[in-house]
Amino acid sequence: MITSEIIAKKRDGGKLTRKEIEYILSGYLSAAIPDYQMSAFLMAVFIRGMDLEETEELTWCMLNSGKILDLGFIPGVKVDKHSTGGVGDKVSLILAPLVACCGVTVPMVSGRGLGHTGGTLDKLESIPGFKTNLSLEEFIENLKQSQVSIMGQTGELAPADGEIYALRDVTGTVQSIPLITASILSKKLASGADAFIFDVKMGNGAFMQSKEAALALARNLIKVSKKAGRKSLALLTDMNEPLGNVVGNSVEVIEAIETLKGKGPEDILEVTLTLGSYMLILAGKAHNCHQAEELLSEKIRNGEGLDKFRQLIFQQGGNPGVIEDYSLFPKTNYQIEVKSEGEGYVDSIETKEIGLAAVELGAGREKLDSDVDLDVAILIKKKIGDSVKKNEDLAKILANDYEKGKRAEQRIKKAYGITRHKTKKLKKVLSLVDEKGIRELPAG
Ligand code: URA
Repeated sequence: MITSEIIAKKRDGGKLTRKEIEYILSGYLSAAIPDYQMSAFLMAVFIRGMDLEETEELTWCMLNSGKILDLGFIPGVKVDKHSTGGVGDKVSLILAPLVACCGVTVPMVSGRGLGHTGGTLDKLESIPGFKTNLSLEEFIENLKQSQVSIMGQTGELAPADGEIYALRDVTGTVQSIPLITASILSKKLASGADAFIFDVKMGNGAFMQSKEAALALARNLIKVSKKAGRKSLALLTDMNEPLGNVVGNSVEVIEAIETLKGKGPEDILEVTLTLGSYMLILAGKAHNCHQAEELLSEKIRNGEGLDKFRQLIFQQGGNPGVIEDYSLFPKTNYQIEVKSEGEGYVDSIETKEIGLAAVELGAGREKLDSDVDLDVAILIKKKIGDSVKKNEDLAKILANDYEKGKRAEQRIKKAYGITRHKTKKLKKVLSLVDEKGIRELPAG
């Protein structure tokens, strides 16, 4: 086979065979296919798309690039959750321990920041000592001990995703339904979970901006999961403003801890409890959402969720002292207030710009090998529906580099839309998608 011919076939809208997909993937992993040809291939897929069969083949190839865990020896249904990527989305940090302390094993394989979105692994690594590059033996041992562990893809687990993820991040090929589906599912299927819940973000801070695109992604994730013999559900959730009140790495860990202490923002709680409820239902631990939410809320009230997070930090080498003492996270050098120039009510936030401002500060990667600054942050002071006076703070920036902080300030200022008319708070959880179709979810 000739690489350039396969690229050209996809460029011209052709349907690739399993052999052609395998050839490209294995060639790239063995370094026989260079980055420039893989980039062209990814761009061809980005522009032309892939049908379900091609997406499945891509997923199996990426999955088979590493080991696949068999967790059959752990009793019960093992459930994992994955978000398609958002700004301020720290839900996994709260959800994984909370669901685990309801008796469900959560083998979570997460990602790093991608494009303007944050990643669970970067956030966890802001906890001093916390290790996410676990060996499979360590991951399994943690699951046996505490029913929860969070790791990243590694040289052993879905290595193809690691390589392609990094390349997509710097070649403008992230927002592609087949590439996102194969990326998420190759990791998730390798983790040994029996069922998945997908948090498909939609809106101006998500990779899928429209409801149609988010629904198409949700359907793809569910269909490919089914083909792999796994049960799954998806929630479409709003990403037209950052989730919670902080964007960054260590600040998001703190907000997650506050939520487990019962002091979290309402929107974070809404998304966490709804995703958690469906995880408990998938695992057979609750019959309906009402019962499941009660169970999860009780685990926050009685502190068991927080204790489970403490255990998770400890078993992955982190310092659990951060739970009581936030000063264990390093302080940044500068604080810059972002002042409102207008007066009225916040009616829109260009969420992607907030994510890009965080990347600009150093919270995400601009290049393949950029280091992430784990302590820079954007503290969101005003969200949609809030009233604002002239010169009041819209946000506060925590920066380590003053110039970067000033650039972020300009981006954030421009990201806010303010109107004279009263505006409403956004509902976060919008719809449930399963094999049968889509159902709108009521507020609250
Ligand atoms: N999360 C992933 O793991 N992969 C993607 O491509 C997007 C979000």
